[in-house]
Formats: sequence, structure tokens, C-alpha cells
Amino acid sequence: MKRRLGRAWRSSGGRLAALFAIAFLAGLWLRALPISLLAACALVLGYGLLRLARFAARLAGPRRMPAADGGGIWDEIENLTRRQQRAAIADKRRMVQRLRAFRDAASALPDAVIALDPGLRIEWFNAAAANLLGLQYPADLGAHLPNLVRAPRFGEWLRRGADEPLPDLPSPADEERRLDLRLIRHADDRSLLVVRDVSQLVRLEQVRRDFVANVSHELRTPLTVVHGYLDMIEPEQVPEYESILHELRSQSRRMTQIVEDLLTLSRLEARNDLPQERIGMRPLLEALRREADALSQGQHTVTTELSEGRDLLGSAKELHSAFSNLVSNAVRYMPAGGRITLRWERDADGGARLAVTDTGQGIPAQHLPRLTERFYRVSTSRSRETGGTGLGLSIVKHVLHLHQARLDIRSEPGVGSTFACVFGSERLLEPLALAHAP
Ligand code: ADP
Repeated sequence: MKRRLGRAWRSSGGRLAALFAIAFLAGLWLRALPISLLAACALVLGYGLLRLARFAARLAGPRRMPAADGGGIWDEIENLTRRQQRAAIADKRRMVQRLRAFRDAASALPDAVIALDPGLRIEWFNAAAANLLGLQYPADLGAHLPNLVRAPRFGEWLRRGADEPLPDLPSPADEERRLDLRLIRHADDRSLLVVRDVSQLVRLEQVRRDFVANVSHELRTPLTVVHGYLDMIEPEQVPEYESILHELRSQSRRMTQIVEDLLTLSRLEARNDLPQERIGMRPLLEALRREADALSQGQHTVTTELSEGRDLLGSAKELHSAFSNLVSNAVRYMPAGGRITLRWERDADGGARLAVTDTGQGIPAQHLPRLTERFYRVSTSRSRETGGTGLGLSIVKHVLHLHQARLDIRSEPGVGSTFACVFGSERLLEPLALAHAP
């Protein structure tokens, strides 16, 4: 490139020198040297202006710069520009090809992908989005997404910031289909809405639930019969089988309890909401304390602390059973002499929590994330000895989920554990006396 440019400079310089030499000699011969030199300058300037005008016109024109073969500096400038134009066009073509390939790949995705601007207006969407959300191409480009997907849950989810995925939304195009939505924010406040069709998964989950519910229901009757007959046999009638009879009774009681807990779980899973009642926390805490005392039979000290005055809104029956589960665990997993504290207190973010703290053996950290799984036990033998089914904390988690609340578990081996049910402020009610005050 440098060599060609050098050659062009030399060629143009040679031509210029030749022109001025001719003008000089002609000036001498005609005895009009200044005029002859001036004419040569005007010629050079005029030619320069002419080439500049042609260059500008070709740059501005719609066609590509043609190849120039004069060999001078102007021709070289035109050729260089032509080469850069060609490189830019090739780059653009490659970019367009890549963009097209990317769009084709995104269009072929089974999941719906919708690109949104900062105002949640649709910039682009793939074929699956048209199918799953009923979007129309190109009519819906530029439309405000919440105006097209009108489900109240969707609007509420966006208003709350859409930080968590939105599960199990019926498709606006077909109510039978279930969708999982996820909003991914990226540069410049733009975002990508990714929607998955989970109808198949939801159906399988329903089959699983129905199966567990049906099996538990079918087991209930034969178990009741076996249990009834076992109760009818007096140990004195079969003294040689007394210990076997005792074991049979305890195992049939355990099976009955497991079946009852599985049925409770199925019942909770099938519900989307529960009755909304005002629950006075002072009497509830007292009732829980009495239950703990009765279970513990004087082996533990049970105290209550009430620093939050507001009442709770929810299902009295289900919440009572969930809290009882935590209290019963505290009693069952703590050696004699321990302390249990039941607290109803304000939570950091304006809500409130019911915390059951014990000074028992504690739970090693690696077990904590799995405690609410069905049949997960830290120590199987201790759970069985104390009549546990391994389903208690799963039931607690479900009840809390139906109250938009969560279970917070803190534990330190050798020090004790705290199981806290954390409720949002929307579940709290001012006490009646205050609520009715003028
Ligand atoms: P289980 O019927 O076995 O008690 P849960 O679901 O209620 O089942 O509890 C799951 C496991 O969590 C228990 O088996 C036990 O190992 C552990 N656990 C629950 N509560 C406590 C507690 N207060 N202290 C120590 N371990 C506990």
C-alpha cells in the first residue's frame, strides 16, 4: 500500500514538474514568463478542483466508487476510498448475516423470547411468542406488553419488579396451557421476557399429587380395620406375643399417622387459598404453650414473649397446626432440662414472625436447606422413636406458602434451633380495640 502511494506521489510530482518545465520554456520562448507560469498554476488548481468535485460526487452517489487507473495521487485516493468502501460493505454484509442467523436461532427456540424496551414496549419477538402469548406480527411490534397480556397476576408481577420468575400463568392464547415467565434485564434498562410452556410438567405434577392422594386414601380404610382389630386383642389373652402386639400397635399407629400427614399435604397442595380469619396471637401463644407443657410433661421449661401487638390474618386451623408442629418438634428433639421460647415479634421489614426457639442439640448446617423435603430427617432413629413421620416441616412449609409467608430456620449444633414463620405486613391487623378507636 505504502509503495503504491509512493509511486503515485512520484508520478504526480513528475507530471507537475514536466508541466512547470514546459510553462517555463514556453514563457522564455514567448517572452511572457509570469503569464506562462500563472497559466500553469491555474491549470494545476483547476484540475485539482475538477478531481475534488468528481470525488465528492462519487462519494455522495448511490453507486460504488469505480476503479481509477490514471496512476496519479488523485487516482490513488479514489482507489483507496473504493477499497475501504468495499471492506465496509463486506463487514456490513457479514454483520447482517450474523444477525439473521441469530434471529433464526432465536425464532427456532421452543421458548418464547420477547425483547422489550425500557418502557416495556415490544421491540422484537420470536415465533414461539406468537404461539404462546398470542402476539401478532407485525401489528404488536411497539405495543405496550401489559396491554396485550392482561392477566392480573402478570400486571402485579411486573409492578413488583419481576425479580423472581412467575410460575404457572395460564396462556392468554389458550387457557389450557401453563406458562413460566422470567424477565431478564440487560443493558440500557432493556429486558428480555422468556416464556416456557410447562403444561406437560404441570400435568405430571398433578398426576403425582393425585397418585399420592389416592394411595393414601385407599390405605386409610384397611389400616383402620387392622388398627381396630389390634386394639381389640388384650395382651393378657396372648401373653407370649405381648411384645409383638405392642410393636404391631405402635407400627400401625405410625402408618396411620403417615397416611394422615400425606392426606393433609395433598389437601394443602390442592388449595390455592384458605379462609381469612383474624387470629389473636396472645391466646394462640398461650394455647401453644399449654400444648408444649402437655407434650413435655414437665421435662422442659416453656415461656412465651409477645412484643408485637398486631393480630394475624389467615386460616386459624391451618396456622395453629403448623405452629403446633414446630412446638412438637422442639419438645421431641430436645433432651430433658431444655428451654423452649415462643415469640411473636416484629420482623425487620415491617412484618412479624412467630419464632420457636429451643436449646436442644441443634442441626448441622448441611441439613438445613433440605429439612422441609418430604421424609427428610437428620436422625431417622430419633424421629421414629419420638413418633415423627418426616412430613411435619413439609406441612408447615405448605401452610406458610398459602399465607405468602416463609419458614426461616437457624440452628447451631450444641446450642439450639429457631424455627420462625415470617409473615408480610399485609397479613397483620391492628388489634380490635385500636382498630375501633376513633
Ligand atoms: P419428623 O416427623 O421426623 O419430626 P419433620 O419434618 O417435623 O419430621 O422434621 C424433619 C427433621 O428435622 C426431623 O427429623 C429432625 O431431624 C429435624 N428437626 C426438626 N425440628 C428440630 C428441632 N427443633 N431440633 C432438632 N432437629 C429438628
